[in-house]
Amino acid sequence: MIDLHSHLDLYPDGLALAQEVNRRNEFTLVVTTSPRAYRATSRVFAGLRNIKVGLGLHPEVSVAKQGELDDLLAGIAKAPFIGEIGMDGSPRFRGSLSIQEPIFRAALSECGRHPGKVMSIHSRGAERRVVELLATTKHAGVPLLHWFSGALAELENAVRIGCWFSVGPAMLAGEKGRALIARMPLNRVLPETDGPFTSVGGKPLQPWDAWSVREPLAEIWGMPVADIGEQLRQNLHRLLRKPG
Ligand SMILES: [Zn+2]
Repeated sequence: MIDLHSHLDLYPDGLALAQEVNRRNEFTLVVTTSPRAYRATSRVFAGLRNIKVGLGLHPEVSVAKQGELDDLLAGIAKAPFIGEIGMDGSPRFRGSLSIQEPIFRAALSECGRHPGKVMSIHSRGAERRVVELLATTKHAGVPLLHWFSGALAELENAVRIGCWFSVGPAMLAGEKGRALIARMPLNRVLPETDGPFTSVGGKPLQPWDAWSVREPLAEIWGMPVADIGEQLRQNLHRLLRKPG
């Protein structure tokens, strides 16, 4: 089982849960909201070999955490996984776009100086700008757009410039999410939960629940469920440049 976008450090019982996640999931990317959180989380989850921690500065907390930008930039050289970074133009957060965008641009350009990063990217309500910025910093690594919810034209641009996508049960529960996923390239899609902030049927998602995307993906793509699982595993190995 695989979860490419989890906030495992923000579950109430994160540490105990992490032991179980490490056993059950072959790979979990824990994204963080600030460099300080990254350091704390990396310490706490050290030794759990199937769990990787991303260095991030979440756009939703950009106002409070902008003082940690230098810290973010200084850490990028050494961090193979970057996230959560990006921009949020939804009504609640669009007021801070003028703070979010320079942070995101600085992170991308620093990633561009240290190729090979996997970046988990937030783009809600700012999809067009995020894709534009990614297009202009092509060597910044592999952008993995998490829960992409933009327009079809923006999705097409994202596909064209080589973006990957992480999709979760909550996204697959909606008509719009399914329509977007139908247009994503099979070989650039990975499962995610975005837990603990997501739930399906009133139940908060656990990191192993990401694997339940296989059934709806099988339906959308007209493939057997087992083949979807195999495809997702191959995608992961390609993303991590490991032999399949
Ligand atoms: Zn997230």
